[in-house]
Amino acid sequence: MVDQSEIRERHLSAILDNTVEGIITTDSNGIVETYNLACEKIFGYNSKDVIGENVSMLMPDPQKREHDSYISNYIKTGHAKIIGIGREVTGRRKDGTLFPMDLSIGEVQSEDVHGFVGVIRDISERREAERKLLEYTEKLKQSNQALDEFVYIISHDLKEPLRGVYSYSQFLQEDYSEVLDDVGNARLDMLKKLSIRMEDLIDRLLYFSRLGRCDLAFKKTDMESEVRSVAEMLAPFLEEKGASLIVEGDLPEIVCDHARVGEVFRNLIVNAVKYNDSEAPGVWIGCDYEDVRACEDSPVFYVRDNGIGIPQKHQEAIFKMFKRLHGRDAYGGGAGAGLTIVQKIIERHNGRVWVDSDGETGSTFYFTLGGDDGFIG
Ligand code: ADP
Repeated sequence: MVDQSEIRERHLSAILDNTVEGIITTDSNGIVETYNLACEKIFGYNSKDVIGENVSMLMPDPQKREHDSYISNYIKTGHAKIIGIGREVTGRRKDGTLFPMDLSIGEVQSEDVHGFVGVIRDISERREAERKLLEYTEKLKQSNQALDEFVYIISHDLKEPLRGVYSYSQFLQEDYSEVLDDVGNARLDMLKKLSIRMEDLIDRLLYFSRLGRCDLAFKKTDMESEVRSVAEMLAPFLEEKGASLIVEGDLPEIVCDHARVGEVFRNLIVNAVKYNDSEAPGVWIGCDYEDVRACEDSPVFYVRDNGIGIPQKHQEAIFKMFKRLHGRDAYGGGAGAGLTIVQKIIERHNGRVWVDSDGETGSTFYFTLGGDDGFIG
């Protein structure tokens, strides 16, 4: 006849040895009673080295002492301070190396058995990956900053000779317009026009790089009044285009740089009306707390329009510097920098911006103002 308790024990031991987590049980004095295979892999000790020893041999010094005092405190008071609490601690392998591990301790209590069970997960790989990611993010941050500096210096230095080109074209026209024929004069006009355009592009680059380098003035901002004041500023433009602007629901208070966020709304509202062939152009602004991308710091804000829409294949490209989907002067013209600036401001708030459109019946721009841990800005 097979002994039922022996079967149960073998079954339990098979479970313990096939568990990925390290599992150790000790008596109430911290003396190891069982030590599974995963523990052998984690600590490098065989079970025979550990069973019968104090579990504190698997800990480095300060924690070893702490552990001993937990146990003696427990023996004295019966109060188990660390039971049921998962926490990150440092483990010590047989070769003396230290490593981070997640440890949760439970109390085992039945009539005749009294002790603890510890579940251990080696998290060195996770910590190493996090460290690498942090290092990579830091490097990327630095190279972004260096790029911003570079753009700033280049744009700044380009402005000088460009002004010279404009001024000399002007002098030529003033002093030699009678010597030149109509074609010559028209070319000089074109030269002046192109240098003005180039200066405008350089100014946008300068502004963009400044946005990457400047400190933001964060403070609690009532988004509702921020949007209202942007709308007031744009009232003549909206009226001229016969456009309506509707704020749907209440907008919350958010910690942000209100001037920059105002700029985000201004850019998105102007675009919503500019790229719009509808007889009654409309802009709807609101926010959504339920969206999965909403976070503790920010709901998802949206600016929706009934304009010409943006085909799927261009929905990423429109955020690139100087990218326009239409001819230079179509839809009122533009430098193609507005959305790049919007994205930069939002990234400086640790947020995200994206667009949704079927390419025909309007577009909705969404953004958050915080919570993206992966932010690099
Ligand atoms: P700009 O308006 O100066 O061209 P933006 O960076 O603001 O620059 O926009 C980039 C391009 O994205 C625009 O040229 C336009 O083609 C497209 N776009 C932006 N907003 C909208 C919108 N609400 N509806 C349709 N197209 C848009």
